[in-house]
Amino acid sequence: MACLTVIYIPMKLETLAVHAGYHVDSSTGAIIAPLNLSMTFERAADGSYPGGFLYSRLNNPNREALERCASALEGGAAAAAFASGSAAAMGIFQALSPTDHVIAPKDAFYGTGDVLRDVFARWGLETTFVDMTDPAAVRKAIQPKTKLLWVETPSNPLLKITDIAAVADIAHEAGALCVCDNTWATPVLQSPFQFGADLIVHACAKYLGGHCDAAGGLVIARNQDCFFNKVRKVQTTGGAVAAALDCWLVRRGIRTLPYRMRGHSENAFRIARFLCQHDAVEAVYYPGLPGHPGHKIAARQMSQFGGMVSFQIRGGRERAFEVVSKARVFTRASSLGGTESLIEHRASLESGGTRTPENLIRLSVGLENGEDLVEDLAQALLT
Ligand SMILES: *Cc1c(COP(=O)(O)O)cnc(C)c1O
Repeated sequence: MACLTVIYIPMKLETLAVHAGYHVDSSTGAIIAPLNLSMTFERAADGSYPGGFLYSRLNNPNREALERCASALEGGAAAAAFASGSAAAMGIFQALSPTDHVIAPKDAFYGTGDVLRDVFARWGLETTFVDMTDPAAVRKAIQPKTKLLWVETPSNPLLKITDIAAVADIAHEAGALCVCDNTWATPVLQSPFQFGADLIVHACAKYLGGHCDAAGGLVIARNQDCFFNKVRKVQTTGGAVAAALDCWLVRRGIRTLPYRMRGHSENAFRIARFLCQHDAVEAVYYPGLPGHPGHKIAARQMSQFGGMVSFQIRGGRERAFEVVSKARVFTRASSLGGTESLIEHRASLESGGTRTPENLIRLSVGLENGEDLVEDLAQALLT
């Protein structure tokens, strides 16, 4: 059996994206792993589980394939797949204790701050929100009970760039863990373990799945240690696990991830340059632009700058809505990372306590022809 489920030779990313976690199905010779919907697995006469699987909440062949693949791509030791990116984040917070303290970024995926402020504050887990791009502010927020520092870079929706190595150093000095939400960069553009992160989080519905048709979340651990075992325990006992079909779709999406990320990055850079020189635009947020405050760090820790661009339009909320409504190639929708370009007025989606400016428009730049995308924005920006 050609088996690449365990990779001992250090292969490169494109090769891992195609092969890691895949093997030819020994019963049929199928080169694509079958979708395995069985909830339960047969025991041998002695009570053991010869197939290695017991019950699908605990583990499933498609989930295991995705976990092995994600772990190989990030260079980790183990991974746990959850039902969503949010469930993955919650899995990490639930592995902490109610008296612990977390430091999280002010600018980050809205849902991450929301569960910390609401669900986990009630549980007794305290969070300090800081500007994660300012190491002095991060250091100041450390308390004796600080157990975890959360990094999201580039951040949502302002594309702020955090120096992963600087935050990981501060975390480790304090005896805390550094978690990096790598959803926007993906393992193709950024390898947080190389910069000292202990755990990596992904929302699979975005670039990993890549086609806006599958949900999922991943926690990947640099070491299979006691903390990761707690995350695994939350995953298997709580059961907020990724469904087999979603795991299958995300694993399929990953096969083309390295090539898609190049296309997203190329188109996004082109759009960012176009917006920069446009009179109707007040500010452009894209880490590839030399004027971006995080550009130097981004150039050091990312290989390309990704497919997300935010910009502020001259005028207020109404003018932003007008531009969004005029787009034709871009579809008005939330989320990101699919092949189709999306355009969104972000503040109106984020409910209470949003810090997103009312004139901010967020773009998920897809894989259409870049010239068509620029032309679409040019006509949408006309007054
Ligand atoms: C979408 C997203 C999440 C949450 O993922 P869900 O699957 O929607 O729960 C977390 N972090 C980032 C950066 C995201 O873009």
